[in-house]
Amino acid sequence: MPMPRRIDHYLKDLLDEERFAFYSQVAEFAEEKIAPRVLALERAHELVPQDLIKEMGEFGLFGLPIATEYDGQGGGQLELVLMGLALSYWSQSMAITPGAATSLGSKPLMLFGNEAQKREHLPDLAKGKRMFVFGLSEPGRGSDAANPEVVAVRDGSGWVLRGEKCWSTNARWASHVVVHAMTDPSGRRGHRSTCFIVPMNAPGVSYNEMGGKVVWRLSSTGSIAFDSVRVDDAAILGAVNDGFKVMATTLNGGRLFVAALAVGSAAFALDRVRAYAQERQQFDDKPIGRFQRVQDVVVDLDIAVEQSITWLLHLVGLYDQNRLEREQAAKVKIAISQRVSELMLDAMEVCGGVACLDEFGLMRHHEDLFVTRVGEGSNRALRTQVAQSLLPDIRTLLH
Ligand SMILES: Cc1cc2nc3c(=O)[nH]c(=O)nc-3n(C[C@H](O)[C@H](O)[C@H](O)COP(=O)(O)OP(=O)(O)OC[C@H]3O[C@@H](n4cnc5c(N)ncnc54)[C@H](O)[C@@H]3O)c2cc1C
Repeated sequence: MPMPRRIDHYLKDLLDEERFAFYSQVAEFAEEKIAPRVLALERAHELVPQDLIKEMGEFGLFGLPIATEYDGQGGGQLELVLMGLALSYWSQSMAITPGAATSLGSKPLMLFGNEAQKREHLPDLAKGKRMFVFGLSEPGRGSDAANPEVVAVRDGSGWVLRGEKCWSTNARWASHVVVHAMTDPSGRRGHRSTCFIVPMNAPGVSYNEMGGKVVWRLSSTGSIAFDSVRVDDAAILGAVNDGFKVMATTLNGGRLFVAALAVGSAAFALDRVRAYAQERQQFDDKPIGRFQRVQDVVVDLDIAVEQSITWLLHLVGLYDQNRLEREQAAKVKIAISQRVSELMLDAMEVCGGVACLDEFGLMRHHEDLFVTRVGEGSNRALRTQVAQSLLPDIRTLLH
């Protein structure tokens, strides 16, 4: 696709010069290092290779939101989202690797860690030498995440953890997992769980890659079991019985990142369809782009890209000023992921049979967009959360 990216045209106006230059550098990195490898890796059923993770680390992608005093790049959510856009244009699963490591891995530590925990972990996390996994979901607890079946029981001066987490992004490469565990079953909902930082090599921790996943194909997704794993109080992240706050607060930024993945997919589809509609000839050897029903899809994608990126960057600005409401993060993820995943099918349809080929690129985005609808809170469950904020008088009746 030799045409300039359409999304860059919008980003140029929405970002200051410095931020646009940063985005362009990451986009160049993605084009040189990531784009040429995605197809072959997917066909070989491999995960993101170690050498690429190392290059991402050297390029600074794992340290984007980490303060310079802990050897990070000192950026904010804006830099994370720009990285997500630039990488997901080629592959959401490449983007989610540094994306989950930062927005779900380092973030809870940055937001809730004490000074000793930050000094111990953040410098290595910033360099990509360590990776934290976000251990919220469980086989029996997805949307009902405030009520974990993984338990941590007081035992002398420490705690013993038992149970299983699943859908853990980056588990293959993780050094630690932040485990959300029930600590006070009789406590008030949202105030009965605690987060613990647990090394992946602690006795009793075991990991398995989840097989058969046909979305985010290059991303590691693991299940992690805890068989009487002992930790002490120093492992507690945040306050005892306030673990759900740690997880829920982290997810606000995570949802902005997931929305960025969907925008990256839309940006790719827009450029792909624009190029193909002008190249592909049918009937009298003339381009299919002359058909108005093909033009409709190009225009709908263009409108979606411009509206989505404008809205998303506005909310990212609020997040970086500490002014974002959690419903705003939920709404932007719900709306963008749903709209783009629907439009992706239209984009594929107007390209015809070629869209079924992996090398054409749209099918990958189609598959990956499904994750943006269920990941970091299923859209339908999140709608309940939004409705509760809109209908406060009947809040307790809503499910
Ligand atoms: C590729 C991938 C990577 C992931 N990475 C991580 C990770 O790193 N860490 C992590 O902790 N989790 C991760 N997840 C898990 C993800 O957050 C959950 O899948 C999500 O929260 C939904 O949970 P569930 O799949 O158990 O669906 P369930 O909770 O079983 O819900 C199924 C469906 O029921 C409906 N539903 C449920 N509750 C409600 C409600 N209150 N109102 C209306 N409808 C409702 C919705 O349609 C929902 O989609 C990942 C998931 C995927 C697919």
